[in-house]
Amino acid sequence: MKNRKDELVANLEEVRGRISEAASRAGRSPDEITLIAVSKTMPVADILALWEVGQRDFGENYVQEWRDKVDELPDSIRWHYIGGLQSNKAKYLANRVTLIHSIDSKSAVKELIKRSEVAPEILVQVNTGNDEAKGGIEPDAALEFVTQASEIGARVRGFMTIPPFDREAIPYFREMKGLFDSARKEMPELDILSMGMTSDFETAIELGATHIRVGTAIFGKRG
Ligand SMILES: *Cc1c(COP(=O)(O)O)cnc(C)c1O
Repeated sequence: MKNRKDELVANLEEVRGRISEAASRAGRSPDEITLIAVSKTMPVADILALWEVGQRDFGENYVQEWRDKVDELPDSIRWHYIGGLQSNKAKYLANRVTLIHSIDSKSAVKELIKRSEVAPEILVQVNTGNDEAKGGIEPDAALEFVTQASEIGARVRGFMTIPPFDREAIPYFREMKGLFDSARKEMPELDILSMGMTSDFETAIELGATHIRVGTAIFGKRG
């Protein structure tokens, strides 16, 4: 049996290969796509093994878990916070993470701004499909939210979405891409579209994702 490090590196290479193929099917360059390795519940050793072969973008969902790991890991890691964010936790992320993907409340934005030395970079999470069980701003309200968050001092880079787990993702990715394109007409500085996970990242790339968040295909199933 292969050791854990070989397994992780092989998985990463396989995912990178699939990214390239999906990009080429869509007439895009793989360089346009940032792969975020979602390391929630995974140990520091796994993250280091991937860092050693050049992976730099990692995603975490739980503030406390991330805080427990971050001090043992290299500063060159670009951390993406992708979990639900209560405003009382925002202070731990300010100045320390590269991008927060999961913004859906004004109070979290305000708290981040208050605690940050430079404008915090955020994505607005959009509840495509208006799924009541999920976080995110309703699609109809997303543009206004971007404007307001920018006005109070956040650097909004774009959008993130998680389609409903039990349904075909394509219509939700299309809806998100449509919203992204129309927002960019007014705000050309928006340049990030975060969508696609293990089960659907190739589809997301074909439909315009710039950032994909992949956990299981790299690390294996979470316990
Ligand atoms: C856990 C998680 C992922 C990764 O999911 P996989 O199916 O394991 O690839 C991506 N995005 C978010 C928001 C997550 O919570």
